[in-house]
Amino acid sequence: MKYIGAHVSASGGVANAAIRAAELDATAFALFTKNQRQWRAAPLTTETIDAFKAACETHNYSPAQILPHDSYLINLGHPVEEALEKSREAFIDELSRCQQLGLTLLNFHPGSHLQQIPEEKCLARIAESINIALAQTEGVTAVIENTAGQGSNLGFRFEHLAAIIDGVEDKTRVGVCIDTCHAFAAGYDLRSEEATAATFAEFDRVVGFKYLRGMHLNDAKSGFASRVDRHHSLGEGNIGHDAFRWIMRDARFDGIPLILETVNPDIWVEEIAWLKAQQYAETTAG
Ligand SMILES: [Zn+2]
Ligand SMILES: [Zn+2]
Repeated sequence: MKYIGAHVSASGGVANAAIRAAELDATAFALFTKNQRQWRAAPLTTETIDAFKAACETHNYSPAQILPHDSYLINLGHPVEEALEKSREAFIDELSRCQQLGLTLLNFHPGSHLQQIPEEKCLARIAESINIALAQTEGVTAVIENTAGQGSNLGFRFEHLAAIIDGVEDKTRVGVCIDTCHAFAAGYDLRSEEATAATFAEFDRVVGFKYLRGMHLNDAKSGFASRVDRHHSLGEGNIGHDAFRWIMRDARFDGIPLILETVNPDIWVEEIAWLKAQQYAETTAG
């Protein structure tokens, strides 16, 4: 079973995210559990938590279908001790919020070396940050997202994801989310079914499908191997439709949230319907 949805707004309260997802006929959704551009947020109240759980129950969303995303400010590989500490605290708070909401996944961007420490040191720092946070929380898996490799962001090579996982002590609570736009911009070809199959064979060899906990389905406005992160609507960018059709027909993407972060929310309902239809449609050539 494929879980398909979009990153919806949680404005007015996290329960609204579930309601908005249902309006899209989505079977999955992503959300921020706090303002993604601020360090601090008021703690979740019992009322907020209960309303969220009730909305998820009403609209049939189980934790396996929900992929919360953390704040953009957090850098778990920060080269400066004080800033690293601030990020680690914020990340623990994000995991705790997920735990309070009964959620089991937290998607985040690995981190940046800011040209101040070597890649390997930064990757080790990220793994250590995950270890610290997992030790202080329960039941939530840290889901590392691959990046486009803009600036000094790490996580653009599958080897980076594997290196972080390698440094995490509890392998049962670490996973990855692959963003198709980021992978393409980082130099993993997705422009045909053959290229997509080869890219995911490489992913399986380096990281392993057993760690795949979610996908971000985005076409790319940015060019192949451009290291630039610009999303586009499905089929309208440089990736095209083939990769998305291929993913929808492969059982290794079953049972995890498949999330659109495409640029036009007005057509999410059509994009979700199109993705759903690809699972059952007759195979078309090319
Ligand atoms: Zn993404
Ligand atoms: Zn992106």
